[in-house]
Amino acid sequence: MPRQYLPYTWVSPKLKSGKSAIHGDGVFADQKIAEGEKVMEFGGERISREQAFSGNYRSRSVWMINKDLFLALPKTDTHISLDENLNHSCDANTWLEDEVTLTALREIKPEEEITLDQGTWNFEDSAYTDNKEPCSCGTVSCRHILTENDWKILDLQERYQGHFHPMVQKMVDAG
Ligand SMILES: [Zn+2]
Repeated sequence: MPRQYLPYTWVSPKLKSGKSAIHGDGVFADQKIAEGEKVMEFGGERISREQAFSGNYRSRSVWMINKDLFLALPKTDTHISLDENLNHSCDANTWLEDEVTLTALREIKPEEEITLDQGTWNFEDSAYTDNKEPCSCGTVSCRHILTENDWKILDLQERYQGHFHPMVQKMVDAG
């Protein structure tokens, strides 16, 4: 049986939307979140790679499950989905447990912005990622320019070991 995915992303009730210092709107903790606590489970309509890049889906909602299967929300769907405001940080406070589950990698304080390092999942130079984009996360470990090859950096592989997107984790493990 193939895994069932949620029709919409599940977002912890401890999260809220807010103005980000990193980029536009962001996702913030409304209260303390414990290390290891689940914060999101990505969901959406099951679509093909071709559909994902057709322009008919909300670009910030597109999430890869595997090479040929993506989750996304069609542009005709006006449902508010907080995960679309999730920003990147080069020193993120969440990581992946599997292809759709986001957990806190350390305790997160109230009012802290929730971030995910795109180096944990981005390995394609594609329309739904921000490759060669300057980063303004402002952390000491900022890489300044983000690319689809960041997962190859040893420091990232050590920091996020076991918590990359499964497709990236396989490539990390293969060396
Ligand atoms: Zn950065």
